[in-house]
Amino acid sequence: MSELTPKAALSDQDQLLRFGLASGKVRGVAVSVDHSWQTAGLHHDYPPAVAQLLGQCVVAALALVATLKFNGRLIMQFRGDGPVKLLVVQARSDLTYRVTAQWTQDLNPTDLNQTLQTLFGLTPANPGHLTLTLEPNEGTRYQSLVPIEGDSVAQALEGYFQQSEQLPTRLVLVADGGRAVGVLIQQVPGEGGTAMVRAANAEADFDHLSIMMDTLLTSNGLVEVQATAVPVLLHRLFHQDSLVLTQVNSVGFFCGCSRDGVGVMLKSLGRDELACALHDSEVPGYVSVRCEFCGAQYNFDAVDVEHLLQTHSFAPNEDIRH
Ligand SMILES: [Zn+2]
Repeated sequence: MSELTPKAALSDQDQLLRFGLASGKVRGVAVSVDHSWQTAGLHHDYPPAVAQLLGQCVVAALALVATLKFNGRLIMQFRGDGPVKLLVVQARSDLTYRVTAQWTQDLNPTDLNQTLQTLFGLTPANPGHLTLTLEPNEGTRYQSLVPIEGDSVAQALEGYFQQSEQLPTRLVLVADGGRAVGVLIQQVPGEGGTAMVRAANAEADFDHLSIMMDTLLTSNGLVEVQATAVPVLLHRLFHQDSLVLTQVNSVGFFCGCSRDGVGVMLKSLGRDELACALHDSEVPGYVSVRCEFCGAQYNFDAVDVEHLLQTHSFAPNEDIRH
């Protein structure tokens, strides 16, 4: 660790690295979010327990979207009925993201060792659900939903891949309110490789690399992941496994909400609903909408509302689909 002074070395570490291992039989993605993650949290005041969960989901969603060959966005949603109700991460193929979460007063805000069962109030009768939605810019939307299984975000996603995709996948995810880091490795799907790649060795290689990932899952290991620049971490983990960095990209927070988009949503509510909203508004005289992702506030007075109702519909803006 002596080669790193955390502040200096970790500044501007909003980046995603794609890499190959074991002569291409295993692919990986490592991602860290830092400034962008602090920006995403600015208007939310996430308790530490929520910031930990949500940060893990952010780096996981970015890693997953980076493994997909598509243009559009991936939406990862955990929903339960406990102290935490909802986590949503939207990660786009341009590697921007936005997040939101809902939790209650019942949450123990500072205990960072709570399981997903505790946080989401999961029981056999009420297992919550993990939903992954792919929304290509063009083409058909794809959604799959599984019960939340495992104690952690990483375990729940590994279970998802086992069930839904039959793709052996390992994830290490760490996060706090300041920084989140994720490492994903995945066996290359059969159709993506040559016959050689699909040879029997692939599984043994993957198992060996999984054991390397496991070495991070001690309390010291996780602290190290949190405090280490991603390229350094990959080198430490995999330098003996023919690690090849294939691509480095920056990642960033981007909400994409707009006054026009909010206007389209309001118009869809209709005249009566908007009249009530004007009447009952917390901001007297305005229909006031706060973006749940970035905290931006959009106010429409009675004249604005009338203007919305009288203008022709325009095509729904994708940015307002929440
Ligand atoms: Zn917004």
